[in-house]
Amino acid sequence: MHRVLMVEDSKMVQQVLRHLASQYLHIPVDFAASLRDAAGLIKNNKYTIALVDLNLPDAPNGEVAKLTLKFGIPTVVLTGSIDEFKRQQMLEMGVVDYVLKENRDSYIYAVKQLALLLKNQGKKVLVADDSATSRTMMRQMLARLLYQVIEVEDGQQAYELLINDRDIKLLMTDYAMPVMDGFELAKKIRSKRGRDELAIIGISGSGSQSLSAKFIKHGANDFLTKPFLPEEFHCRVMQTMEQISLIETIKDAANRDYLTGLYNRRYFYSYAQQYLENNNQATCLALLDIDHFKQINDTYGHQAGDDVLVELSEHLQAYFSDMLMARVGGEEFALLMPNCAMEQAFEMLDNFRFKLSSTQIDAGEHLISVTVSIGVSEYLGDSLQDLINHADIALYDAKGGGRNQVCQYGSDAEE
Ligand code: GH3
Ligand code: MG
Ligand code: MG
Repeated sequence: MHRVLMVEDSKMVQQVLRHLASQYLHIPVDFAASLRDAAGLIKNNKYTIALVDLNLPDAPNGEVAKLTLKFGIPTVVLTGSIDEFKRQQMLEMGVVDYVLKENRDSYIYAVKQLALLLKNQGKKVLVADDSATSRTMMRQMLARLLYQVIEVEDGQQAYELLINDRDIKLLMTDYAMPVMDGFELAKKIRSKRGRDELAIIGISGSGSQSLSAKFIKHGANDFLTKPFLPEEFHCRVMQTMEQISLIETIKDAANRDYLTGLYNRRYFYSYAQQYLENNNQATCLALLDIDHFKQINDTYGHQAGDDVLVELSEHLQAYFSDMLMARVGGEEFALLMPNCAMEQAFEMLDNFRFKLSSTQIDAGEHLISVTVSIGVSEYLGDSLQDLINHADIALYDAKGGGRNQVCQYGSDAEE
């Protein structure tokens, strides 16, 4: 379990940080108001990261940062001191970032940095450089940002690793390396892994400005020129990783329904198609349609109807947690049931149907009873379209048979 340590003597700032932490960090946060408190907490807990003030009543010169660093806790400094010497000293000592308390934005920035660090935690970064000194320096800086670091000495080794290990999210590559140089590596790997999957930061020696632009043209997201300051290194890495996660978020949003957060029809179809092409285990597909949903809207209003859709989606996701669930129409849902033959699928669906019919759904001001009709079909090597059509026929039977029931395709009903 991760914990955050915040050391801050001002009650007012503590309050601001507490509020921001509840917004951006979803792990426990402990506060200390002095060096002594901080030492006590560190003795009894393990901290993943720390945010510290440099000026405390019993430690006016950044002693608390020395303490957290001594215990190997990645540390962000938040301070009112604009002393440039102290700032350099702190960065050299190894603090991750040095944030000035200027206004509310600085607090937000600092807490967001902590959130990003937590997100980085354990993500793999590959460092490709033929100089051992340079690799060690980068490894230390990346470890401070909580990354897991892998090192290689040339482009070819890097290429092979990147092809085989899709968990590597960032490549930091030198330009001049034996066997395969940084440009060729960037170019070759870009054709295999897109910008939403892998970030590349090129590193070039001093006095070779044109190399930087060339790196970008070969597919790198950013570049650094040697020698670089830890702070610059840190900013470029954090920013590049944030870009990747934004692209991921956008991609995910395009695949989801805005109201319920479930996958949408398009995603469901393309996923199901791929799934059926690549698997030959028993698979079922179910279509679920809310009964008399129009009446719910008419009786309680459209907003209540929306609330029912959201609540029901949560029930569905919780119940069928390891299956692909999508909202494929207004009040219609589809479920792909892998590794599941008809008998088992029917039982699960009927249990869900029964549980739902005896639960009241909380739609804001009202508690509403909701039932669903379900049609299910089993994949028998025909097409996805057939599978869907069959489930649809079964759903029609369930509606015709009086609703609040599950019908299977191929049973007596439609013969
Ligand atoms: P049946 O039992 O035959 O399925 O009856 P039904 O009323 O559920 O089916 P019908 O297809 O006649 O009506 C579906 C209703 O769902 C009509 C539409 O206004 C409503 N609906 C579709 N999408 C939404 C939505 O996003 N929010 C809300 N509140 N209502 C929606
Ligand atoms: Mg309906
Ligand atoms: Mg309908």
